[in-house]
Amino acid sequence: MLNENFLRLSQNYLFSDIARRVREYKEENPSARIISLGIGDVTQPLPQASIDAMHRAVDEMASADTFRGYGPEQGYAFLRQAIVDNDFTARGIDLDIDEVFISDGAKSDCGNIGDIFSTDVTVYVTDPVYPVYVDSNVMSGRSGEKLPDGTWSHIRLLPVTAENGFVPQLSDLNTADGELEGALIYLCYPNNPTGTVISRDELKKWVDYALEHSCVIFYDAAYEAYIRHDDVPHSIYEIPGAKRCAIEFHSFSKTAGFTGVRCGYTIVPKALTVTASDGTEVHLRDLWNRRQCTKFNGTSYITQRAAEAIYTPEGKAQVRRTVDYYMQNATFLRENLQCLGYTVFGGEDAPYVWLQTPLREGSTTERISSWEFFDHLLRDLNIVATPGVGFGPSGEGYIRLTAFGRREDYEEAIRRFEMIK
Ligand SMILES: *Cc1c(COP(=O)(O)O)cnc(C)c1O
Repeated sequence: MLNENFLRLSQNYLFSDIARRVREYKEENPSARIISLGIGDVTQPLPQASIDAMHRAVDEMASADTFRGYGPEQGYAFLRQAIVDNDFTARGIDLDIDEVFISDGAKSDCGNIGDIFSTDVTVYVTDPVYPVYVDSNVMSGRSGEKLPDGTWSHIRLLPVTAENGFVPQLSDLNTADGELEGALIYLCYPNNPTGTVISRDELKKWVDYALEHSCVIFYDAAYEAYIRHDDVPHSIYEIPGAKRCAIEFHSFSKTAGFTGVRCGYTIVPKALTVTASDGTEVHLRDLWNRRQCTKFNGTSYITQRAAEAIYTPEGKAQVRRTVDYYMQNATFLRENLQCLGYTVFGGEDAPYVWLQTPLREGSTTERISSWEFFDHLLRDLNIVATPGVGFGPSGEGYIRLTAFGRREDYEEAIRRFEMIK
């Protein structure tokens, strides 16, 4: 009677392992001042514009004349229009508000999107990867057999490492058995965990490939607001043809501090169709709309007003200030670690720095493992990081540092790194 796919999930010990090691260290060293650079949540408050909008919305709820009950499952037009105008039209992308679905965050939609696809397809994810993409496919029975190395036969890993510039390569696709036809491909840029980006030219290769092989790309743009460089695309729809092959996920969590408020949106273009087994062309937008109307009753009115306020002139300025604050942390971290001789990636268009662990003493090729370096940072510097290997086998030899903390913690962290130099 169980969905036994849940029993097949790999235990994700990463964050509980980290917590246990930190707890044990603290018990042995009660006076240690531990700095967490592993934190995956934002720390700065909501933009004032959103706070004001929420107060007004609460007052509307208090009066029968302005009270709102169930809203549209797809989201209110005021927010969908603000999204189209600011995130797309302003970048030269033509979208209709019917292509925008407001959600309670990108994690839900990244996890739920599989509802409208067959379980009999091959899935491609990058390695390292945001674990939601893998686990949600295991739960829905799309993973195939578990292989001896702990990976899955139908979830294929595309390594992203320093060697390929953290961009998945078409040559790493398994072209055997025509399994690529109709595959589902997850891309996340700017990337969590590596903090790296993809250029328009590299992304175009994936769009062209997906069009040629009837694949669908799931493009997670949760960190889009952190992009600083002009050659980095903010949306996959900047690439010609992407509306015919891609679904895009956005979140207000990392952009505007909505991790606790909960709001995001998903774009399913009307031009995106897939051929059904009887030969008819099916619009994925219509299936997703049906799915949402059946299983989702919308994001709260108060929350959607808060999200709308992000797009006012004051809201935009406040969001920019917060994003700048985190990015100054990232720059400070990246530049100082580089000065100290570490090899670091990311942190230029994303709030994550991906640090390559040092070479093992006496070796010119072998690096300290992610967990060994984690233990070294914890014990010798009292700094908590996230071992890269926890995000996938190709994360071995890296650790992730986040920029979501407070400035003074980064200054203190660098002083400690300097001490062991
Ligand atoms: C944080 C994050 C999200 C967004 O999650 P929400 O549910 O919107 O809070 C989505 N994708 C990635 C890769 C993330 O790191």
